[in-house]
Amino acid sequence: MTTEENLKKYQEWLFRRSAYQMALSIIGIDKLTVAPPAGNAYRDARTAYLSGELFSIDTDPEILAVLKELKDAPDIDEDIRKGIQLYYEEAQKRLCIPKEEYVAFEELSNRSYDAWLEAKQKKDYSIFEPYLKEVIEAQKKLYGYRDSDLPLYERMLDDYEPGMRIADYDAFFAAVKERLLPLIARIAEAKQPEDSFLYQNYPIDEQKKFMDELLAYLRFDPSWGYQNETEHPFTSWTCENDCRTTTKYLADNPVSAIFSTVHEVGHATYEHQCDPRYDGMVLSEGISSGMHESQSRLCENYLGRTDAFWAYNYPLLQKHFPSQLAGVSLEAFMKAVNKSSPSLVRTEADELTYPVHILIRYEIEKGLFDGSISTEGLDGVWNAKYREYLGVEAKDPSEGILQDVHWSGGSFGYFPTYALGSAFAAQFMEAMRHDFDVDRALRTNRYDLCMGWLKEHIHRYGCRYPAQEILIKATGRSFDVNVYLDYLEDKYSRLYGLK
Ligand code: ZN
Repeated sequence: MTTEENLKKYQEWLFRRSAYQMALSIIGIDKLTVAPPAGNAYRDARTAYLSGELFSIDTDPEILAVLKELKDAPDIDEDIRKGIQLYYEEAQKRLCIPKEEYVAFEELSNRSYDAWLEAKQKKDYSIFEPYLKEVIEAQKKLYGYRDSDLPLYERMLDDYEPGMRIADYDAFFAAVKERLLPLIARIAEAKQPEDSFLYQNYPIDEQKKFMDELLAYLRFDPSWGYQNETEHPFTSWTCENDCRTTTKYLADNPVSAIFSTVHEVGHATYEHQCDPRYDGMVLSEGISSGMHESQSRLCENYLGRTDAFWAYNYPLLQKHFPSQLAGVSLEAFMKAVNKSSPSLVRTEADELTYPVHILIRYEIEKGLFDGSISTEGLDGVWNAKYREYLGVEAKDPSEGILQDVHWSGGSFGYFPTYALGSAFAAQFMEAMRHDFDVDRALRTNRYDLCMGWLKEHIHRYGCRYPAQEILIKATGRSFDVNVYLDYLEDKYSRLYGLK
């Protein structure tokens, strides 16, 4: 076939798979937000059928032959070639696995999820342990099929953050350990700010009225974005002009929904601002887990937890909650929302202690795959690390080893990107602050200027370039963990008067 004929087939294939993807995405969002649970069985069966169809489309030998020819064809647009290469690489990862083993793993991860949920509810790690062991063995086997020289765990790390190696993460977490653990210990001893005013009755109806104003400030425009409610906030999308986020309101804490919204809208804005030419293509997606998380955390922490952000928004919040926030100054509010203290649950951790939660998961994952740590007694290993690094100990495994869902489905190597994203964000923020007066923009209701900077330097590229290359393009230098650690040291030393 000629290159032209191949390209036509490729475009038709892209359209077909994006149609299935869109359907699956909308059904997934619907299920997690508003779909009545009695319809689950009917819906799940049809969703599984559609997923199977998409799998067949993606592994169709005819299209694989087309991809193979096109990826090295002369005279094709480099954007298109990049997309083809990414699809081709993805297909190879999947095709090396015997189909029956792929299906068996899907089935195992469903059973393992159920066991994890039961174990968490009964606060009993021994219910989950045999499944965790089986999932790890299965993943070792599946990843073993890949044609790769990388150690097994590194293959997993590479799936979430291409190019990041064990040695890179070792260096990253060693620096986190060396510089943050002493600071965390000092702050644990320091006088904590008063924050009881945050934990009283904040009627949800009124929180929603404030949220409308906040969403407008964040430029989350209803013409392309929609916010719903769920137990665990997330962001999903079908194309750059249809992005959905969710949040969760707590009647006794208004800032939970606020910061989760700023975070999720950060993810959504990344997708929205990608070059529309990449719509429906793999290029339209964020380049890596770490890069996606860098955008949401930049919005949540580096913009959303600043004095300038709240100089504009705090009077609005006070307007909605005059009695709850009576006599609470902006300064007192800022100290409360930036409070740091060692805790057990990752998703509720503050900005300073958060990377230590990830460090613990990284050390355990690495040990599970190099054989130095076993699933038996892993709850004890977990508790020992929390005691050593954060000085806290879980009363039961539901707030210890069983708190996160990731391992039940075989997601190993994902956690480290959460910490990496925060560190990328520090470097982006430094560059943004160099280019214009960010605080002035935030104070004067010009959040759009910050989003415009992110669009120009990061968002529009989608995954056209590797994460490390985007970092260099945007900041003029390669990744440097010290920017992140300097930022945290400076911020928390100031907040706690340690300087
Ligand atoms: Zn996120």
